[in-house]
Amino acid sequence: MQLTTIAFDADDTLWHNEVFYVSTQQQFAELLKDHAACDDLDSRLYEAEKRNLGHYGYGIKGFTLSMIETAIDVTEGRVPGHVIRKILDMGQEMLRHPVDLLPHAQNAVETMADRGLRIFLITKGDLLDQERKLAASNLGEYFDRVEIVSEKTSDTYTRIFGAYADGAEKGLMVGNSMRSDILPMLDAGGTAAFVPFELAWAMEHAEPPEGHGRFHTLNDLGGLTDLVSTLT
Ligand SMILES: [Mg+2]
Repeated sequence: MQLTTIAFDADDTLWHNEVFYVSTQQQFAELLKDHAACDDLDSRLYEAEKRNLGHYGYGIKGFTLSMIETAIDVTEGRVPGHVIRKILDMGQEMLRHPVDLLPHAQNAVETMADRGLRIFLITKGDLLDQERKLAASNLGEYFDRVEIVSEKTSDTYTRIFGAYADGAEKGLMVGNSMRSDILPMLDAGGTAAFVPFELAWAMEHAEPPEGHGRFHTLNDLGGLTDLVSTLT
């Protein structure tokens, strides 16, 4: 394989993301505990998020709406307006959070660009929010192409690597989600490097492939240069 193009996932691959959801969800539980006795709030919220994905897509706006819906449901419609207001504030706070790069992220992207590889960013989520984070990351100049997509399937990778690179066969996808970054890229005929992050959203869970020749796992992005040396 002659690798020509490397694509990075963004959230929890290049910068922190899930940590903001986890802490907001803790605030949400704290906020509702005076208004409803609900010992399965987390799973009620998760069910709402799952139900709403097809309407809202991935990202903070959909998450905020799902928190509001859950608050209405668990209080049987009695949730006060000031609590809804607070949930909206929590969502807006998430949309303002500073961008916090993960270890080795800057160096990995820079090094790959120095090697003359084509560099893509392929991410899901709210368009505005991902654009904001990319600008704040100061990594924007390294990417030859940025794709903010509603879902990551094998067709997504076939299309992007087909249109803007030399096909998925000569591409490497780097990401923290087995379900979205790794399995569909392997299906598309590409190579994938799984970089697990300590916090993972249940929706992104999938079993790793067994004995797959184009599947690699890295402890962190510090191992990317060595892997890429074996692929070029
Ligand atoms: Mg991710």
